[in-house]
Order: sequence, then structure tokens, then C-alpha cells
Amino acid sequence: MRKYIERNVKQRELVGFTCNKCGKSVDLTEDDFAGNLFHSFKTSFHYGSAFDMETWEFDLCEDCLLDFVKTFKVEPDGVGIERDRFVFYDLEGGLSE
Ligand SMILES: [Zn+2]
Repeated sequence: MRKYIERNVKQRELVGFTCNKCGKSVDLTEDDFAGNLFHSFKTSFHYGSAFDMETWEFDLCEDCLLDFVKTFKVEPDGVGIERDRFVFYDLEGGLSE
């Protein structure tokens, strides 16, 4: 026989995203897949950094993420799976739309 106690547990449920850059928001209660167009980032800073001991967390919509990545001098790993849909670099190595 098992013995249980009842607890009232407070739970958090993700119900939406807001892009930290452009402010675009989606409500996941209206569209289950809308969150697939948002990407979460978390980075911690350590000794030697002006932001030592801080941890930054933010979300970007896919449009803002794509705009950000297009500013990179070096293409990130994994880019190219959808190469026929997005062209990040021209033949001279510069950035293109
Ligand atoms: Zn955005």
C-alpha cells in the first residue's frame, strides 16, 4: 500500500512569446505552433567580463534572428539546410538578402 499526501503545487505554463528585439508577440493558446518561430537564448558572463556574474536570457522572433545572423562575418554551423530558401552569403563572401 502506498501512502500519499496532497500538495497544492504552483505550476508555470508557457502561454506566449515576445521578441525582445522587435516586440512581436504570439499567444500559444491561440496557435500551438506560433512558438516555433521564436528562439530562446541564454548566456552567462564570467570573470573578466564587464558583465561578470550576470546571466542574460532573451527570445528573438525568426525574422530578428535571421537579420542578426546576416550580420555575421562567419556563417554559423547548421545554416544551409534551407539554402534554397535563404541566401546568407554572396560569392565574394559578403552578406546578401
Ligand atoms: Zn523580432
